[in-house]
Amino acid sequence: MTQQIYNFSAGPATLPLSVFQKVQNELLNYQNTGMSVMELSHRGTAFTEIISAASSLLRKLMHIPDNYKILFYPGGASMHFALVPMNFATNKIAAYADTGLWSYKAIQEAKKSIQVQTITSSRENNYNYIPQIVKENIIDKADYLHITTNNTIYGTQYKELPNVGNTPLIADMSSDILSKEYDVSKFGMIYAGAQKNLGPSGLSICIIREDLLELCPVNIPSIFNYRTIAENQSLYNTPPTFAIYVCKLVLEWLKVQGGVQAIEKINKEKAALLYGFLDNAALFKATIPLPFRSMMNVPFTTGNEKLDELFIQEATANGLMQLKGHRTVGGMRASIYNAMSIDGVKKLIALMQNFEMQNK
Ligand code: PMP
Repeated sequence: MTQQIYNFSAGPATLPLSVFQKVQNELLNYQNTGMSVMELSHRGTAFTEIISAASSLLRKLMHIPDNYKILFYPGGASMHFALVPMNFATNKIAAYADTGLWSYKAIQEAKKSIQVQTITSSRENNYNYIPQIVKENIIDKADYLHITTNNTIYGTQYKELPNVGNTPLIADMSSDILSKEYDVSKFGMIYAGAQKNLGPSGLSICIIREDLLELCPVNIPSIFNYRTIAENQSLYNTPPTFAIYVCKLVLEWLKVQGGVQAIEKINKEKAALLYGFLDNAALFKATIPLPFRSMMNVPFTTGNEKLDELFIQEATANGLMQLKGHRTVGGMRASIYNAMSIDGVKKLIALMQNFEMQNK
């Protein structure tokens, strides 16, 4: 029998086994069309049913109000670092919270076309906390405030959304979308790369308030214009059809789990188990202070590079994969997205316990 693998990668991340099985079962003949889903016309009935089902499932699961459009966008989250200022920076100035490498990259991209007010930053502390955002400090003319709700690399997460007054809040939600309940009406726009809680990489999802879509300038290339994509129901060009199909299956899986509220409960349980162990461990420790800890990405270390390396080797040999921390942080990182089971987390804890005994 092959060894059961648990994939703790930060992304592309583990997806539910039942989704892979469904993909496998219908790969050669999608619902008696005699064709693979990959070769279906994006304008034909079978595919339009897939994309509209994915969209309405996402709307229901996230309680997305009617005045928001859902877009399936070709390209990853990084693309929106460039597109957000292009589409929404009417005054050519926006505020950004710098809470990690991805926020920083978003800032660098925005700076190419607009003025950026870095409203707050934890860069000098290697991004190990979420700094406060003071509403009064947001520059009056700011077209929006950009945040990253969960910082994948450092394992930090906002516990409360910043109070932004009338400034539209735009969030990169790549690594915690659908993992916990968010009040979508608090946002002007949410975007997320698919490869953590949604599906395969190379696809991103945008949720945009309709009044903001009115702001998208007509003189930017059509493919980069959110309004064009919204007006064409994400079929302005040939979208990544296979990725959208897998995304629909992941959303169906989530619905069967009981939706976001139910998965949030499980995610809390997984995080509590893991942090609970780390806080009482003899050798291992979590690197992020309690108030800022992410429920999705859990970085930890032994404090000794050689031991960290040895642990990663042992974990790999035991089927616990991709636990190496990001190169800018070191140590280990366990990404415990929606599709990671409690069983996987328990196996990781058991291995750490064992490792501590051997390395006393
Ligand atoms: N934002 C966040 C929070 C991320 O975690 C990532 C990727 N891990 C990105 C943006 C970049 O996503 P992509 O590679 O899809 O462009």
